[in-house]
Amino acid sequence: MIRDIQKLKEGPFDLLVIGGGINGSAIANLAADAGLRTALLEKGDFASGTSSKSTKLLHGGLRYLESFEFGLVHESLKERTIHFKSSPHLTKHLRFLIPIYKTDKRPFWMLKIGMFLYDFLSGKHLIQKHEILTAEEVLLKEPSLASKDLIGGVIYSDVQMNDARFCLENVLSAQEKGACVANYVEVKSIIKENGKAVGVIARDLKSGESIEIRASKIICAVGSWTNEFMRKEITKFPAKVRNTKGVHIVYKEKFSERAFLIPSHRDNRILFVIPWLNHSLIGTTDTDFTGSPDNVGVKEKDVEYLLEEAQRIFSKHDFCKENILSSFAGLRPLVSQEGSPSQVSRKYFIERSYTGILYVIGGKFTTFRKIAQECLNLVLKEKKSWEENVYTVYGSGKVSVNIPEIAKTFQVTEAVVKYLIDFYGIRYKDVLAIAAGDSYLKEPLIPGCQEIKAQVVYSIKVEMAQNLEDVLFRRLNLGYLEKNNKQCEATIKKIFDQYSNHL
Ligand SMILES: Cc1cc2nc3c(=O)[nH]c(=O)nc-3n(C[C@H](O)[C@H](O)[C@H](O)COP(=O)(O)OP(=O)(O)OC[C@H]3O[C@@H](n4cnc5c(N)ncnc54)[C@H](O)[C@@H]3O)c2cc1C
Repeated sequence: MIRDIQKLKEGPFDLLVIGGGINGSAIANLAADAGLRTALLEKGDFASGTSSKSTKLLHGGLRYLESFEFGLVHESLKERTIHFKSSPHLTKHLRFLIPIYKTDKRPFWMLKIGMFLYDFLSGKHLIQKHEILTAEEVLLKEPSLASKDLIGGVIYSDVQMNDARFCLENVLSAQEKGACVANYVEVKSIIKENGKAVGVIARDLKSGESIEIRASKIICAVGSWTNEFMRKEITKFPAKVRNTKGVHIVYKEKFSERAFLIPSHRDNRILFVIPWLNHSLIGTTDTDFTGSPDNVGVKEKDVEYLLEEAQRIFSKHDFCKENILSSFAGLRPLVSQEGSPSQVSRKYFIERSYTGILYVIGGKFTTFRKIAQECLNLVLKEKKSWEENVYTVYGSGKVSVNIPEIAKTFQVTEAVVKYLIDFYGIRYKDVLAIAAGDSYLKEPLIPGCQEIKAQVVYSIKVEMAQNLEDVLFRRLNLGYLEKNNKQCEATIKKIFDQYSNHL
């Protein structure tokens, strides 16, 4: 991908999309696909906002059944399965176990009804039916769970995904179809003519240069930054978005191949403990956040809450802060509404401002395709009929190849080929092509890890990584595994020095 600032200046574009999170990236992908001259601007790295800080689930959202949001659950379950089938490299079927204790606020019968509804609402998009378990069956499957007061459990299916790469692969697809995309370009103000928005003044944060970009239509998908962005149009805007903070920790132990949904005892919310990167992802909190989205961070009390709830369920383990490899905080850009944070609906809507800018408000990761389609329908003069059960990003599609043969051709191990296919889908060969003929680039980034050095070059040359953090957190997942960082950082920096002429 080329970061072509000159092309941005030349414009004008049919559509300018502001915000390179999952929503903006998917809108740009579909717009380019529909033949629109499209530009996408992101002030940080792609997915550096909420779209790399999620629980990484494509899910219906079991708990939205409690608030009778059947439409949202049904739509999300359908979207979940579409991406699961179209992009196997970014998604993984996961079984979730909910242990149920006498002391839980939600009774067993309620969970049973919930499970029935969840499968029913999946309809033809059901991945695997749920199971109801006795306490003995739960402990047989998961002996590390606390047994005191356990009365049973349920197991159901959802999909785990790679959020940052989903976003990035939408951007890559958009550019492949002709969109002009750039990270580290921040929109500073709106250009208005006769009261209508006709472009923006943006700053290239790499060079400091101020640039004018013109477009017939503008969509703003800046998530948690919506309230402050709207104030660029008019100073007194009622808040459209309510930001709530969600913290995750990456805990050193992996408790199971299954994920767990834990009803919290402190505040009646639900938490997840999910196998991730050979460790466990534990989250999340849900508390109102009123500061600037640029300053969101993890607090001591967030970590304590997560450890306390995990300890209660996995009572046979000794949870301690020393085993936390990393932690991260993200903001849910929810539709502004009263009530406790976890009760606010995850629905979305699209609002047109008085200058004609379309704002995406609310939503969840799972429904990005629907949001993008609705935005495009508002932009295009004729309503486009979208392909219903397919959505492709850069690496989408099934890969069926002879792994030993490829390993032999590129002189790498079969494990490397398999890992690259799992990570990049049909684009795995582009990484191998970079490594071909260079034994240094075929080496693991650090001894014992599956990532190879060619992936860093690929991140720089193809995936527009601009700095160490982009590689560590949004091209690869190594940044979350703190113990590896120092050695890993030094190697990545070395490769950056060598290939920086590509930036
Ligand atoms: C803790 C947590 C867990 C979650 N888990 C899940 C889950 O498991 N499944 C699910 O479906 N959903 C989940 N969600 C919700 C989901 O992650 C979000 O709905 C989604 O990522 C929002 O995407 P977005 O594109 O709207 O926002 P963002 O990803 O935040 O993107 C907005 C982008 O706009 C950019 N921007 C802002 N201002 C400007 C400007 N002036 N110029 C240029 N760019 C600008 C920002 O840098 C940012 O990258 C979770 C959310 C949180 C917080």
